[in-house]
Amino acid sequence: MNEKNEDLVNYLVEREFIRSSKVEKAFLDVDRANFVPEELKNYSYTDRPLGIGEGQTISAPHMVAMQTEFLLLEKDSKVLEVGTGSGYQAAILSRVVEEGEVHTIELIKELHEKSSEKLCEYPNVFTYLGDGSRGLPSKAPFNRIVSTGGVPEVPASWVSQLSKEGVIVAPVGEKYHQRLKRYRRTGFGIDEEDLNVPCIFVPIIGKDAFSD
Ligand code: SAM
Repeated sequence: MNEKNEDLVNYLVEREFIRSSKVEKAFLDVDRANFVPEELKNYSYTDRPLGIGEGQTISAPHMVAMQTEFLLLEKDSKVLEVGTGSGYQAAILSRVVEEGEVHTIELIKELHEKSSEKLCEYPNVFTYLGDGSRGLPSKAPFNRIVSTGGVPEVPASWVSQLSKEGVIVAPVGEKYHQRLKRYRRTGFGIDEEDLNVPCIFVPIIGKDAFSD
């Protein structure tokens, strides 16, 4: 057991960013240091985003915890993550949905290659290179979709790739200032919920998101 990782998890539990035992267990299982670049390893267990190259970031642990909890995951959920980045969020998701699948798509080739190598040891994670602003039609439908970059609004393709009673969690708003929102497919359409969390994610760049 890694004591520093345990301290980070305790910090997240005490502040109620982690609320469920399944998410707590996933955070204990996955060592953030494995997803942080060599030169920033000393900061692996601090609650802040860190650079991962290509102008991108690994999100702060409290944000990863909140998005994971807000997704209301089941053991067998099939999840799409848009924005693989370092691979840390995908690894956490994979531990929560032990009997499900995590499909994660990244736009930048260098990050896709690096994270795919790290995610090899997570057999229920499948990585893709491409523009996730259009979702991942070849693998749809998904029970859950999470965006780890900001979008001006949730793309129609994500909604159309969401299964019955599916949930989307995404930072929605301006390019460098968003709010976490949750969308649920109901029998009557899509319910939108503001989760009351202002945030600053890097933008999702793509056909159905922000332009470069
Ligand atoms: N989930 C990541 C982690 O755990 O490290 C953090 C992701 S970072 C905050 C957002 C990522 O979204 C970046 O790696 C960026 O390259 C990626 N991205 C931006 N636009 C994208 C798009 N259209 N499709 C897929 N990924 C995209």
